Amino acid sequence: MFKIIAIPAFQDNYIWAIHNNHHVIVVDPGDAVPVLAYLATENLILSGIFCTHRHNDHVGGIEKLRAVYNVPVYGRQHPLNSHISHPVVHGEKIMLDAFNLVFEIIDVPGHLDDHIAFFSAQSTPEILFCGDVLFGAGCGKNFEGEVEALHCSLQRLAQLPDSTLIYCAHEYTASNLRFAALCEPGNLVMQQRIIETKTLRDANTPTVPSTLALEKATNPFLRCEQQEIIKNLQKQGLTDFTSGAVFKALRKWRDCF
Ligand SMILES: [Zn+2]
Repeated sequence: MFKIIAIPAFQDNYIWAIHNNHHVIVVDPGDAVPVLAYLATENLILSGIFCTHRHNDHVGGIEKLRAVYNVPVYGRQHPLNSHISHPVVHGEKIMLDAFNLVFEIIDVPGHLDDHIAFFSAQSTPEILFCGDVLFGAGCGKNFEGEVEALHCSLQRLAQLPDSTLIYCAHEYTASNLRFAALCEPGNLVMQQRIIETKTLRDANTPTVPSTLALEKATNPFLRCEQQEIIKNLQKQGLTDFTSGAVFKALRKWRDCF
């Protein structure tokens, strides 16, 4: 048995902690301080670290944590990421016997080239740690490589089971929904999500994890074939309505929103 809890960090980061009341795996510890405080308060022992990508708000706490707990750090090898002790590649599986979980590595480039996601089909529902690639009602910025890579990565994640819980690394859902509502004002599921998100945020409760089904119903970056979105982009001069071109136009619109 295991549980997953959010350790808030910085302005809007979530460091996810998988624990079995004894051991803990943390995902993207950008800051060691709240993680060490959590471990001390709950009397838990750190046993591993997952790293989705090398941005400092995801890796900044690793060195300090490893000075206290010499645990494996799973992630993609990259010349600019010195934190990885256990390099992994696409399709590789990580067995976590203490949690009765197996995580599979999925390459999801497009935010950064070496961004990966950790997916487990063993739990019910399934679990995805996707860092800064897929967010509640939005997606990550395209900092490295072609925007097409980000589109392909999101399409790859969209193939996972609809019930998959989406554990992303930031609380961006409310602002993403403001943009999503502009793209697709007639989407009733989205209108409902906006209301629910406001209720959660007013109570200072995380809006994530969401489910892949909810993202597919409300996240414009997973809805590039929707006529209402295409019509709104057409008004802005878009003439190529292939899914890739729509995605690119949406990402560009979001960047200046
Ligand atoms: Zn990032």
